[in-house]
Amino acid sequence: MKILIAGAGIAGLAMALALRNRGIPFELVEREPSDTGRGAGMYLPGNSVRALTRLGVIDRVREIASTIDVQQIFDARGRLLNEVDLASFWRRCGGCLSLSRSALRRALSDALAETPVRYGRSVVLLQRDSAGTLVTFSDGTRRTYDLVIGADGIQSTVRSAIFGQEKLVDLGIASWRTITDNRFGITGWTAMLGRKRTLLAIPVEDGKLYVYADIATPDGVFAGTPADTMRELFSSVAPPLLPIIDSLNPAAIIHAGRLREVPAQPMYKRGVVLIGDAAHATSPSMAQGAGMALEDALVLAEVLSETKNVEAALTAFSARRLGRIQWVQKQGRKRDAVRSLPGPVRNFILSRFGTGLYAKSFGPLLEEI
Ligand SMILES: Cc1cc2nc3c(=O)[nH]c(=O)nc-3n(C[C@H](O)[C@H](O)[C@H](O)COP(=O)(O)OP(=O)(O)OC[C@H]3O[C@@H](n4cnc5c(N)ncnc54)[C@H](O)[C@@H]3O)c2cc1C
Repeated sequence: MKILIAGAGIAGLAMALALRNRGIPFELVEREPSDTGRGAGMYLPGNSVRALTRLGVIDRVREIASTIDVQQIFDARGRLLNEVDLASFWRRCGGCLSLSRSALRRALSDALAETPVRYGRSVVLLQRDSAGTLVTFSDGTRRTYDLVIGADGIQSTVRSAIFGQEKLVDLGIASWRTITDNRFGITGWTAMLGRKRTLLAIPVEDGKLYVYADIATPDGVFAGTPADTMRELFSSVAPPLLPIIDSLNPAAIIHAGRLREVPAQPMYKRGVVLIGDAAHATSPSMAQGAGMALEDALVLAEVLSETKNVEAALTAFSARRLGRIQWVQKQGRKRDAVRSLPGPVRNFILSRFGTGLYAKSFGPLLEEI
């Protein structure tokens, strides 16, 4: 069976590893000329950690990553609203970790060492013919595959070629992400909630800190640099996170953008399947982007190893994945809605029911895939 994976992000690299681990050959192409290492931090709840274990890369990831044992949510004045013992909750999956996106990508691509990625080569066109899916690459070459796996991210070329140019759903939230030195003694997942806005800090590797900020806003046009905007939006928060805002360097690399979703639906059609953000980009408030991509890869490799019938494999894949992904998207939207409630209502809900709500959202993800 000839398999092409389009995109070497977290989904594509995990897919390659999962197929390699099962002895299934594939080709992997990536649009970027090299592993760019772009991006900020990744918090990995326990189900993502379990998936990395099943992919065989957890030892390398643990060497680099920070262990995150506690989640704390404060209001903007610094009053603790809720604390979750993550180490206990996720114990059977191996706990929670966090690291930079580039370190996670490197751990996955290092594990693939002898199966190189074809960098600088993108998929530009897909056409169905009687022999399979004919793919045209950016260098003009063409090749037919029995299965094309679209792991090419939220703006997926594979998705628009096969499933049409459906619109991404804007979630009404503008966000900023950066990595700075952890001079602030932050040891766990630490969030502060202001009016329709969230500031979050999580330790990553090498004494660094991943900082995420967002605000619910229908348009999100901000004058000034991202650092100025973050300072303006969060200048009134108290410790523990205020010193981070005060120390923001105007020259820091800050990724700014709007949060968008690809609503999950069956994403396969005659020899083409989507995984990761291409299939189901999601609000980050469940921190499940990597987890869902890693799980997709494990399940798809498993069903492909069980049958030579591609269509049967893709039907089985979709049946096993769709409900779980739709759950994550629904919970993400609910959590975003709670964060945007008027302060007193939100604070009451989180301080009275925060731990129960956490268990309700994440409990199903403790189950094996
Ligand atoms: C603000 C924010 C915070 C987040 N925080 C977290 C978090 O803490 N934890 C977490 O688990 N998730 C988080 N996520 C989600 C997570 O980043 C994504 O779900 C994850 O990176 C998706 O990986 P992917 O491989 O599907 O897509 P991508 O990482 O986008 O990779 C797609 C790859 O395909 C390549 N490509 C694109 N088009 C083509 C083409 N035509 N041909 C060949 N290659 C192509 C791209 O260059 C890229 O390398 C966050 C997301 C956002 C927006």
